[in-house]
Amino acid sequence: MINKYGSAMMIAHPGSEVRVLVRSRPTANFAQELIEYLPDGQTVSVHQRKDSRKGVVNNQLSSWSFRLDGVLHDVSQEEVYGRVGRGVVLGALEGYNGTVMCFGQTGAGKTYTMTGATENYKQRGIIPRALQEVFHEVEQRSDHAFSVHLSFLEIYNETLVDLLASVRGCPGVGPGGMAVVEEAGGGVSVRGLSLHPVHSEEVALNLLFEGEMNRIIGAHALNKNSSRSHCILTVHIESRSHTLSDAKYVTSKLNLVDLAGSERLGKTGSEGQVLKEAMYINKSLSFLEQAILALADRRRDHVPFRQTKLTHALKDSLGGNCNTVLVANIYGEASQIEETLSTLRFASRMKCVQMDPVVNE
Ligand code: ADP
Ligand code: MG
Repeated sequence: MINKYGSAMMIAHPGSEVRVLVRSRPTANFAQELIEYLPDGQTVSVHQRKDSRKGVVNNQLSSWSFRLDGVLHDVSQEEVYGRVGRGVVLGALEGYNGTVMCFGQTGAGKTYTMTGATENYKQRGIIPRALQEVFHEVEQRSDHAFSVHLSFLEIYNETLVDLLASVRGCPGVGPGGMAVVEEAGGGVSVRGLSLHPVHSEEVALNLLFEGEMNRIIGAHALNKNSSRSHCILTVHIESRSHTLSDAKYVTSKLNLVDLAGSERLGKTGSEGQVLKEAMYINKSLSFLEQAILALADRRRDHVPFRQTKLTHALKDSLGGNCNTVLVANIYGEASQIEETLSTLRFASRMKCVQMDPVVNE
C-alpha cells in the first residue's frame, strides 16, 4: 500500500504495545548449544548449566524461552533499520512522537545498532539512516513546510550534558543550568539544551559526529567510560500543510536513545566512581522499567516519570501519542549468559505496554 506521499505504508501507528526486538552480536565464540533462535523468528531459548552442587548432576541445563516481537540474528544494518526504525520515523513525520532505544550490557552492540560503524557506509546504524529518511521525505512532501531541529543530550550520573554545546551560534546554558521542565499540555523539554536548525542530511550528520566526539572527549576528561551514560539524540519535527482545506500544524519528537550498559556489578570489588556509576545506571533503568509497566497498567493513573532524568526527559515519548521500540542487544557467548538472561528478562517484561492513539497537533 502506498500513501499520499508515495512512500510505502510502514508508519507505526500508536495504539499497539511497545515493540521489543532482540539483536544478537555476531561472535566467534557463539554459544550455539546455549542460545537457540527458533524458526518462528520471534523466540530465543537460553539454556544455562546449573552449578555442580552436591547431589545435582553436573552440566544439567535450565532453560528459558522468551517470545518477543522479532529476533534480529545475523541481519544487516539495513534490515535492522527497516524493522526497527523506519515505521517510527515515518510516524514522527505524521506527528506521532517516537522513541527507539537500545538496551543491553556493554559490548553487546547498542552503539553499533544506533550509530553504526561510521567509517563504513553499509554499516551505518539507525540514526544516520533515520536522518537520511527524514530529509528524503521532507523533500518529497512538497505540500508541507517542514522545520527540523536536532538536540543531543547525555545523562551521566543524573547530570544533564549538552553534547552540542560546542557548536557555534548556540546559546549557552542559561542561569539555573540544565533541567527537564514540564510544559503546559503534558510535553517536556530540557531547559538549556541547544536546539540546532537542520536543513539537510549532511548538516544533521555533522552534528551527530560532533556530539559523538564530545561524548568521547567528555568521557576522557572525566576519566569515565562513555558506555556509562545514556544518550538521547532528538529530531524535533514541525510540519505545516500548504493546502488551505487541510491546514494543519503538527509537531513531533523522534528520540534515538543509546542507553548506558546494563551490566550488574559483582557483589564485591567495585568501589568509588565505578560503583557510583553503576548505582545511577541501575536506578535509572529500573525506573524506566517501572514507568513502562505503569503505562501498561491502565488502572494506574500515576506514572512515575520524575524519579529519574531518563524517564523525565522521555516523558512525552514513552506513552500516549508515541511509538516505542526497544532493541535488546545480546552477546551470544557462554561467559555472558547471565547478562544475556538478564537482558532478555528485561525485554520480555517491557512487552506489555499499551499506548493511546493520539496525534500531536
Ligand atoms: P555497546 O555500545 O553495546 O557497548 P558496541 O556497539 O560498541 O557495544 O559494540 C562492541 C563492538 O562489537 C564494536 O566493535 C562493534 O563494532 C561490534 N559489533 C557490535 N554489534 C555488531 C554487529 N551486529 N555486527 C558487527 N559488529 C558488531
Ligand atoms: Mg556503546
